[in-house]
Amino acid sequence: MGTDCLFCRIVAGEIPATVVRETPTTLAFRDIDPKAPVHVLVVPKEHYADVATLSQSDPTLAGEVLATAAAVAEDEGLLGDGFRLMFNTGAHGGQEVFHVHAHVLGGAPLGPMLARSLG
Ligand code: AMP
Repeated sequence: MGTDCLFCRIVAGEIPATVVRETPTTLAFRDIDPKAPVHVLVVPKEHYADVATLSQSDPTLAGEVLATAAAVAEDEGLLGDGFRLMFNTGAHGGQEVFHVHAHVLGGAPLGPMLARSLG
């Protein structure tokens, strides 16, 4: 997508990030504002806005994002106690960066999936 997209710029090396894993098609880096002891973002290097677009356009690449997320979870020692894998999508999903990314969260009990404030 180019220079307007924050995560495209991280993929291009134009903005620094703490990269923990890279494959030919994906990149995993630490979230700048971690919400758990382990908080890593996994992105496809190619730009897709969200997980629905990615999965419909390129299911193979979507699988590669999942495989990288699982490898990160293993590298970070999360497979034993578990972890959360999350794709915020669109306005109601709370998505802020419109380059699809999986959040890999773990390292402590994460509590309920959602706050009970939805009525
Ligand atoms: P989301 O709300 O699902 O779109 O999540 C966007 C995530 O990107 C948030 O958890 C931010 O903390 C994270 N973030 C924003 N800027 C950066 C950055 N430069 N490097 C790493 N993570 C970032």
